[in-house]
Amino acid sequence: MVSVAFINPLSDEGRQIVREMGNLDLFREDNAKLIDLVIHTRLQDISEEFIPHNYVDLAVKRLEWYIRKKNDPNFNYNKYSFLFNYDITRFDVISFYLLCQAVGVKFGPNSRESRAMVESQGKLMQSRLSEFSRIDREDLIKKILDSLLSDEKVKWTFFEDILSSRKLKLEDLVMDHGDIILNREDFIESFSSKIEHRDPDKIYNMMIGDKVKELIMNRMIMQKTEDYIYKVQQKSKREIEPNPLLLELAEKVSTVLSESFPSYGHKVGGNGEIKAAPLNPNAFPPCVKLVLEGMKSGGRNDAIILFFTPFVSYARLYPDIFRKNVTVKVSDVDPNLSVVQNEILPLIYGAAEQCTPPLFDDQPQEKININAKLGFGMHAVVELKHEGESIWYTPMSCEKVKLHLPSLCKPDKTCKRIGNPLSYYIRKLWESDETNGNPEGNED
Ligand code: SF4
Repeated sequence: MVSVAFINPLSDEGRQIVREMGNLDLFREDNAKLIDLVIHTRLQDISEEFIPHNYVDLAVKRLEWYIRKKNDPNFNYNKYSFLFNYDITRFDVISFYLLCQAVGVKFGPNSRESRAMVESQGKLMQSRLSEFSRIDREDLIKKILDSLLSDEKVKWTFFEDILSSRKLKLEDLVMDHGDIILNREDFIESFSSKIEHRDPDKIYNMMIGDKVKELIMNRMIMQKTEDYIYKVQQKSKREIEPNPLLLELAEKVSTVLSESFPSYGHKVGGNGEIKAAPLNPNAFPPCVKLVLEGMKSGGRNDAIILFFTPFVSYARLYPDIFRKNVTVKVSDVDPNLSVVQNEILPLIYGAAEQCTPPLFDDQPQEKININAKLGFGMHAVVELKHEGESIWYTPMSCEKVKLHLPSLCKPDKTCKRIGNPLSYYIRKLWESDETNGNPEGNED
C-alpha cells in the first residue's frame, strides 16, 4: 500500500520516518538497498551517472529532476523513473528533509533555492499522483486533505498564507458565505436550488471535483514546505555551526540551479545559443535606440514601462527566452539581483530621465510599475521575497509596438527578418560575432 508520506513528506508518517533517522553523517555513504530499488525500477536508465548511491545523491536528483524537466526540451524521463517508485518512500522522505534543511540553513526561505525546492515538491506531488489509478489517487488525496484541514467546514481565511503568497487564487475556490466548498454533498446543499436545467453533479465535477481538492492539497503542502524551511533557518541562527553535510548539499543545490541557466560573460554559444552578457547598445533595434534618446511625445510611460523594461531585462539576462520557450524568474539568472540593481534599473531610470518631462519627476510612483514588470510585485524596492507576485513581462512583439507605440517603429533592413525587437538584438549579436571571426557561432 502506498504511504501518504510518498506524496506528503510532512505528514505524521513522514515525520515518523524522520524520527527514526540515524546519524546525518551516514547519509553520504553508499546504500545498497537504495541502489537496488533504483536499478530495479521499471524503465529506469541504469547508466551509472543516473543512479543515486546515497541519501545526498537522491536529494540532489530530486531537485535536478524538476530543474531539468522545466528547462530541458530533450528531458529524458527514464533517467528519473525511480522517483515514481513508491518503494523508495523512506529514502525519499529523508532526502526531502535533507534538502529543506540544507536550503534553510544556507539560503533561507526568500531565496531562489527555497523557491526551487518548494516548486519541485509541488510538481513532484502532482506527477506522482498522476501515475496512480483514479481510485488510489482519490484515496490518497482524501487521506491527506483530511489530515490537513482541521474541520469539516473550512473558512476561506484558513488559506490566508497560501492566498497571500499567491500559491492559490481566490478564483480557484468555490465558496458559500465564506465557507470553502469541497464535497459533493455540500455543493448540492448550497447550490442545487440555484442551478436550473443542468445536472448539479456535472456542475460539481466541472467546478470542483478532484482537481480543486488536489490543487488545495498541493498548495498547502508547498506552503508547509516553505514554512519548514523558514523554521530551519530560524533554528540555525541559534546554532553555532551547521552540519557540514547540509552545507555540502546546499552547494550541490546551488550548482544544480546554476547549471540550468546561462552564465554571464559569453555571447554566442554552441548551436547559435545566445547567452547572457553585458548589453551591446550597437545591436539595439531602432525602436529601443529611440527610447534611449528620450521620449518627447505621447506614450512615454508605456514606452519605458511596457516596452523598454521587458526588452532591456531579457536582453541582458535571458536573451534566448523565445527560443527556449520556458518560464523564468529574474533570480533564476541573477540570483542576488546584482545585475538588476547595478545595470538594468540604472539603464531604465536613465531612459526615464531622458524623457520630456522626465518620467519620475511627475510620476515617481511609476518605479513601482517597473518593479512589477520585472516580476517583483507592486513594491517600491526590488526584493527576492516579493518575486513571483507579478510576472516578468516578456518583450513586446513588433506587431504590438506598431499598434500601441507606432512612433517608436522606424524599421531598418534587419527589421524585415524579425518579429520582435529582442530577435533583432540577437540577430545583430550573431552578425557581429561572425564579423569578429567566429562564423560557426562557437564560444570563444
Ligand atoms: S520593426 Fe520591430 S524591431 Fe524594428 S523598429 Fe519596428 S518594432 Fe523595432
